[in-house]
Amino acid sequence: MHVSEEDDFVASVTVYPSTTEEVQAIVRWANKHRIPISPISIGRNYGYGGAAPRVRGAVVIDLGRRMNRILDINPDNCTCLVEPGVTYFALYEEIQSRGFKNLWVDVPDIGGGSVLGNAMDRGVGYTPYGDHWMMHSGMEIVLPTGEVIRTGMGALPGNNSWQLFPYGFGPTADGLFSQSNMGIVTKMGFGLMPNPGGYESYLYTFSKEEDLSQLIEIIRPLRIAMILENVAQLRHISMQVALEGKPRSAYYTGKGRVPDKLIHEAAKNLPHGDCAWLYYGMAYGPQDIRKYKLDIIHKEFMKIPGARQVDPTSLPTDDYFWVRDRIASGVPDIEELRWVNWHPNGGHVAFSPVSPVRGQDATALWDIARKRCDEFDLDLFPTFCVGLREMHLIVEIVFNRDDAVMRNKARACLRGMIDDAAERGYGEYRTHLAFMDQIAGTYNWNDGALLKFNERIKDCLDPNGILAPGKSGIWPARYRRRGWEM
Ligand code: ADP
Repeated sequence: MHVSEEDDFVASVTVYPSTTEEVQAIVRWANKHRIPISPISIGRNYGYGGAAPRVRGAVVIDLGRRMNRILDINPDNCTCLVEPGVTYFALYEEIQSRGFKNLWVDVPDIGGGSVLGNAMDRGVGYTPYGDHWMMHSGMEIVLPTGEVIRTGMGALPGNNSWQLFPYGFGPTADGLFSQSNMGIVTKMGFGLMPNPGGYESYLYTFSKEEDLSQLIEIIRPLRIAMILENVAQLRHISMQVALEGKPRSAYYTGKGRVPDKLIHEAAKNLPHGDCAWLYYGMAYGPQDIRKYKLDIIHKEFMKIPGARQVDPTSLPTDDYFWVRDRIASGVPDIEELRWVNWHPNGGHVAFSPVSPVRGQDATALWDIARKRCDEFDLDLFPTFCVGLREMHLIVEIVFNRDDAVMRNKARACLRGMIDDAAERGYGEYRTHLAFMDQIAGTYNWNDGALLKFNERIKDCLDPNGILAPGKSGIWPARYRRRGWEM
């Protein structure tokens, strides 16, 4: 998915430890020889840099290849303890094969990645357990100097509640290790969702672009009250057209964004028909409980003129609706990235700002994204993901990896969007390696006090600066202000 030159973020060596002790040995060796190392679990992290290290020539520690054991599944407490290489598919299949019908796994859009790795980068899924970081309990971490710690109850020898109570006693260190470069996580526990006893996907379509603001206002109270129960998605019709998997050239060969008229023309052939926005959601629980919530949702959504509920039985079995249905019911899937075929040899990067769940914010971000995409002749594929009290707008930009001009435009477009958003008080929740410095720079309240704090901790924990230098814009002293920032 390289968004710059292919070898800008290239590793020199990849190593595959099989135990925590081997990870410690690698870390000690890296300290001795001052070699940068960069841990991954499975290394998918699509759109955010994949398996690549931030520092060219670093040694990638691929923990997933051999440290891939499911150490525990507890069907009574609904918890698990996993190593970095356990994928969503592996955990799901193990739960099925052990016959734990009462357990669900919360899966992200693509199920091939690591349960632990996704949580480390604060990825999300689509059941009520969609905030993966929030659902973790307990970590085992190799520090940059080689010592091992366990967080939460794991610090108490012989404890029986490592996966039950994430806080333990004293300061909660866990947060320091997510989206960071302060340690290598070798074990992590999670709460698993109990089977809710029934589920039902629904899809509403909304006919006009201008409906966005009113829709978001309707969504906010319903989501906070958990009537809308999962991280639901409000997707733009352009995304649905791209999901067909056909290249852009099948619709348009001119310059600039594909004209809206042509997108709507193409959308007429989709099973749900043309519209501007689509809301994919799921209700959980037995039928009477679902009905209670679905009736409220229906009444609220139908306040928007032109709103339509799509009858799932009218949709073919390969319709994208069923992809969302699987994912929201905890079944791993791999279809989501069909839209990367928009350009030959497609790669993608995402602009992922966080905002309040308010109509005016949705419109402002949508305007920023469109304006910048017009400036750089790029199409955009936006989805609003409503967490609980906030939403992430995820704007995917697809580019041809072999086309240096398009790649450069994609980068410049992202940089522009990040700056425009920051000017108006919006910051990204996660980003690609190439934009980490820029985004860390936008979180600069009080003369960059937070970044300075992170740098002090980094220098203390990692005095030789060997662990993932530059991750999330945190550079160790040995690299800082020596030309590495971009
Ligand atoms: P996935 O394959 O699930 O997408 P990755 O393995 O790519 O996840 O992990 C995403 C990011 O999280 C990595 O780039 C790395 O920065 C961080 N990360 C993943 N696993 C670990 C780990 N075990 N210890 C420390 N950081 C990790």
